[in-house]
Amino acid sequence: MRTAKQQAWVENHAIKPEWLALARRVMGEVQGGTGVMDALRRHPLTDGGYLGKHVLVAAYHEMVRLGELGPDAHLLERVRMKPVRTLSGVTTVTVLTKPYPCPGKCIFCPTDVRMPKSYLPDEPGAMRGLEHDFDPYSQVRSRMTALENLGHPTDKIELLILGGTWSSYKRDYQAWFVRRCFDALNVGHEEWIQPEGHEGLQDAGGGFDTPDLRAAHAVNEGAAHRNVGLVIETRPDAITPDEVRWLRILGVTKVQMGAQSLDDRILDLNKRGHDVECTRRATALLRAAGFKIALHWMPNLHGATPDSDLEDFGRLWSGLCPDEIKIYPNQLLANAELHEYWLRGEFRPYTTQQLIDLLADLKPTIPRYCRVNRVIRDIPSTNVVEGNRRTSLRQDVHAELRRRGTRCQCVRCREVRGKEIEAATLEMNDLVYPTRHAEEHFISIDTPDDRLAGFLRLSLPDAAAPRTGIPELEAAAVIREVHVYGQSLAVGAEKAGSAQHTGLGTRLLRRAEDIARRAGFEKLAVISAVGTRQYYIERGFARGEMYLLKYLR
Ligand code: SF4
Repeated sequence: MRTAKQQAWVENHAIKPEWLALARRVMGEVQGGTGVMDALRRHPLTDGGYLGKHVLVAAYHEMVRLGELGPDAHLLERVRMKPVRTLSGVTTVTVLTKPYPCPGKCIFCPTDVRMPKSYLPDEPGAMRGLEHDFDPYSQVRSRMTALENLGHPTDKIELLILGGTWSSYKRDYQAWFVRRCFDALNVGHEEWIQPEGHEGLQDAGGGFDTPDLRAAHAVNEGAAHRNVGLVIETRPDAITPDEVRWLRILGVTKVQMGAQSLDDRILDLNKRGHDVECTRRATALLRAAGFKIALHWMPNLHGATPDSDLEDFGRLWSGLCPDEIKIYPNQLLANAELHEYWLRGEFRPYTTQQLIDLLADLKPTIPRYCRVNRVIRDIPSTNVVEGNRRTSLRQDVHAELRRRGTRCQCVRCREVRGKEIEAATLEMNDLVYPTRHAEEHFISIDTPDDRLAGFLRLSLPDAAAPRTGIPELEAAAVIREVHVYGQSLAVGAEKAGSAQHTGLGTRLLRRAEDIARRAGFEKLAVISAVGTRQYYIERGFARGEMYLLKYLR
């Protein structure tokens, strides 16, 4: 039985008969060669306006279901909307954990009792969590349905779990939350019925066991919607060998961590509650365990100036060397302690122009192995008391870079995106850089015009690398990420020229194997998301307890 809420959801998402009738005509014309926009304009709705493209995509699926139309990937591609969302090869689904306190006392961090720490109820992405009472299952299902209606392939899903400090939640909640996300990936789209109850975490004596979660993982290995990445966010002082092991049990592959500043004075002034050395230790430990590392860094913290920020940013690239960064300029919010500092005249936010200038100074200094995921947080400007209110800062910064005649070479700025590539023209490069306790290899496959078609991150830990306590990582070189770009294609839907289907991943793996062997490592371990385990097994890796392994001798 559906609950009233589920029934309302199903009805709201059903395609109306009038729309379906119009869509049939539009689809027929598109198949006959008419452009999608032209066909839509020729068939307006009776009360004005036109069919949305998402309706057209939903109608396509309905027509296929009714047998009126055979599956036609080309037609679907033509009517689909906003293809850019999946151009990096995977589709991201964001889920929010329930409101819960965080051990941090950071003065810039907003508090709203309705939300997990640091999130605002009207923040896009976070809003959906609130709408679904923070239920992981319904958040994932509703997002998947929306993506499918927009015509996006949903066979490769990265789960991004947001909400304060993940490690501060109880572990049985964490295990349940992740399991329910996987349950939502594991059912067929038509079966949107949520089973009641959960078993949670079991104490197996001497350690936690997670039978429900393991079962959900196992199903996902062969499911239609495979998990190709699992991301959580936490604080550096929560990262210990025990935590790292637990994150692997959950299936986590990437950790987002707030570094915020690399200056102890600034961390202190802003009441972060940890020092820079703590961030360095945590980063080295995560690297040793093969996680992909995304650091948050905040300019304009209390006590900082544009000049000190510029200097601080440079410290990211000696030792820490994050794989990804999110630059979150501090924003003055009424429900953060910093607001009182501002009222007392002790804090002034930068102006928009100061921020644009600072970010345009920083961007060209970012190494080619790092991806800049954000340069501003998506906070609705109505919440900002004083300072920058523009959320389009990335575009402003790029305009400034063009004006200066410089450019950013980060991973995101070089991704090949949906561009067709010619396999014969591609070149493999190996960017080697030192980090604290590991030599890193960023092995990339580049196009002649310096676009990135794919890359692999290989870590060669040194003798002083932090001990993870995970036996299978002993004497192992670690592959932390393999990423091949191109439109995220449905399994079996080959598209000539697309990077994902030209064996680039296999070429990258072979190169990593060679490098690790020559460096004297006994084995190669790869941190694999649950849904990509089969990919590595097909390429000669064997199952370990938490990693996939290949012996090199
Ligand atoms: S650790 Fe993060 S979530 Fe917690 S108070 Fe600090 S900024 Fe907010």
